[in-house]
Amino acid sequence: MAAETASRVAIVTGAARGIGAATAWRLAQDGFAVALLDLDVESCAEAAEKINASGGRALAAAVDVSDSEQVTAVVQKVADELGAPTVLVNNAGILRDNLLFKMTDDDWDAVMNVHLRGAFLMSRAVQKFQTEQGWGRIVNLSSTSALGNRGQANYATAKAGLQGFTKTLAIELGKFGVTVNAIAPGFIATEMTAATAARIKVDFEDFKKAAASQIPVARVGTPDDIAHTVSFLVSEGAGFVSGQVIYVAGGPKD
Ligand code: NAP
Repeated sequence: MAAETASRVAIVTGAARGIGAATAWRLAQDGFAVALLDLDVESCAEAAEKINASGGRALAAAVDVSDSEQVTAVVQKVADELGAPTVLVNNAGILRDNLLFKMTDDDWDAVMNVHLRGAFLMSRAVQKFQTEQGWGRIVNLSSTSALGNRGQANYATAKAGLQGFTKTLAIELGKFGVTVNAIAPGFIATEMTAATAARIKVDFEDFKKAAASQIPVARVGTPDDIAHTVSFLVSEGAGFVSGQVIYVAGGPKD
């Protein structure tokens, strides 16, 4: 366990599966105590238990990141049970894809609430501990969809919004030793992309093959690809990297 991270506490939202679960596991391997948060505590319990059984420290807790009261309560719970949280990975996310003319008010609001309001509420609650400690790391999950993607007016807007949020928090929190960055993944094989394949009635293996054929490194991404990048951004040595958006997409994006 790295000495500098021995007492550091990380929160990962949407940690039940996919990128969040891989990130929670990776940060535990890096020596962080990890709070795995998701809508349903049961969905994270096994992953937290696995970390504890491997000699790490973890807890699972339920939160809807778009609910202000729940966010305040869960961040305090993490502070009480694991210690002051100084690392936050805003990963919780949902899709409500549809072409604009079919997109409902609820499709729009639900996506804004989880991605934007959720990242805002979680970051506001955690920065209190980060600024007190004089050290912190926030990583927001954006997406290549921020550059525009058919059928994702809501999601693309939220993911582009997270990039502005990232740069602004980097400016505000830098003097407190807190860095804030965003990762914009391309195609990562998770239940989220599997659900997209199911929605458009394409076999997931075929969907992945078609995606890989358009990706310079000739494969789709894995949750570990993203967890590895989070691991770098929250490390001690990444203290001069802030306000950046890192596209992790197997090739260049602009
Ligand atoms: P995933 O497999 O769908 O996992 C997302 C997790 O977030 C789920 O466990 C979900 O819980 C949880 N969640 C949803 N709403 C929540 C809320 N209000 N409060 C707390 N937790 C909530 O997604 P993923 O593919 O790992 O993606 C993780 C992040 O990366 C997302 O922000 C996504 O937009 C972003 N991303 C993914 C890709 C990709 O290709 N997979 C690409 C670019 C960006 P439930 O299961 O209970 O709903």
